[in-house]
Amino acid sequence: MEGKITQTARKYHPLVSPISPEIRRALPLIVLVSAGAFTFLIAVVGSLATRPPSGSTTLGALALLGSAVIAEAFPVPIEGVSAGRTSLATVFIVAGAVIYDWRIAGVIGFLTMATVEIGRRRAPVRIAFNAGVYTLAAAAAGATASAFGEGSLLMLCIATLVVSTVFYVVNIGLLGLLFTRLRAQPVLQTLRGTLVSTTVPFAIMASLAVILVALWDRSPYLSIALVGPLVAIALYQRRQHGTLDRLRELDRLKDEFIAITSHELRTPLASVYGAAMTLQSRDLAKEQRESLLGVIYRESGRLARLVDQVLWASKLESTRSAPEVGSFDPVELVDDVIAAEHAHLPPSVSLTVAMDDAAPRVAADGEKVKQVLVNLIDNAVKYSAESGAIEVSLRAVDDCVRFSVRDDGLGIPLVEQQRIFDKFHRLDPDMTRGVGGTGLGLYICKQLVDQMNGHIWVASQEGEGSTFAFDLPAARV
Ligand code: ADP
Repeated sequence: MEGKITQTARKYHPLVSPISPEIRRALPLIVLVSAGAFTFLIAVVGSLATRPPSGSTTLGALALLGSAVIAEAFPVPIEGVSAGRTSLATVFIVAGAVIYDWRIAGVIGFLTMATVEIGRRRAPVRIAFNAGVYTLAAAAAGATASAFGEGSLLMLCIATLVVSTVFYVVNIGLLGLLFTRLRAQPVLQTLRGTLVSTTVPFAIMASLAVILVALWDRSPYLSIALVGPLVAIALYQRRQHGTLDRLRELDRLKDEFIAITSHELRTPLASVYGAAMTLQSRDLAKEQRESLLGVIYRESGRLARLVDQVLWASKLESTRSAPEVGSFDPVELVDDVIAAEHAHLPPSVSLTVAMDDAAPRVAADGEKVKQVLVNLIDNAVKYSAESGAIEVSLRAVDDCVRFSVRDDGLGIPLVEQQRIFDKFHRLDPDMTRGVGGTGLGLYICKQLVDQMNGHIWVASQEGEGSTFAFDLPAARV
């Protein structure tokens, strides 16, 4: 069982800051659990000192402890179980309680959780609580096991089931209580939620514990036979879960794609439709006709760019091969791009160029580099103030040629600077600023630059502007 604060819970209530109000609310419970576990461990140490375990018991306990630590460190996701990943460590702690005694179970429980949590550099308060929970659950399991005494194999199996249940109840009960305190929710509601989400892992864990104990009863060496199937199942589950996560992400991207493209298609289509209707239905002066034709020209251009972006994004996804790499003169290329951009630049925006005329030829596909540069300049225009100043520069840097586009526009917050290269990622998804876009442009730029063995990045200060730059390898002469 996930004998610790799970990923899902951590998302809402990280036990990271020891002074958060949630932690303060849960502190009495955390102190109680830690103190209980500490007292129990002192009793264990005292008992081990007066009645030390035999060599074979120590060896067996170490094998169980090692397995428990590995299982705790690599939890297995179970599809449909919302409690996060399931650690199989419980199986080994319960086995320790049934095969040996409460002392061995307690030590395995404590050391397993403490080792893994310390290894993960968790906050001390979290280590204390999670290790405390495992220790107390193991103590309860050990006490239950000792009540059964010696018996037939069937009795041993029944005892293991009961001991697993006790471990589960204490473990989940304490975690449920913690969530109750953290979320300030009614106890019953939280406990019910925790129980529902952990029943399936419990059933799996209890049956595995029974199998392990039964095999161990015949010969401890026989239980090694369990390692193969357990590892195989864990790896398979992890892979399957990874695939399902990717499918869910793809599904989400598909929904986002439909929402964004339909929104982005609608606006220019409505303008084209409206302008065409007006042209058809009314007698207009020459000036008005030209203005409406201008709308149709601009908006259909926008539609074409949008469709191109979508086609490019899907093409980049379906073809993994690198594009054909030739070489081109970057000065000529930048000149061409600037000349074309000047043709449709808003009059209030200035576009200047700073070029190192001696820049070497670039080993890349010129058409694709043009596409990237045009995209960056279009963005600089789009996300600049009315009278923005944009500078395109070109220079040689070591074995590369660096293209950059600087604007003095909106800028991009630091936390967003990596994510804007992700598919569909927009800073302003609700388009509250009224600047449309699909969030595909920079994704396409990055894919193209990567394919040409280059590197693209942004340096930006919110409110002060951005510089997008990419390096491409210089051609060998
Ligand atoms: P789109 O412009 O179609 O939304 P992009 O992939 O080209 O998609 O850009 C992703 C996001 O990055 C944009 O929505 C915008 O928020 C931000 N962005 C891109 N370029 C700039 C820039 N020059 N200045 C400020 N923000 C930018």
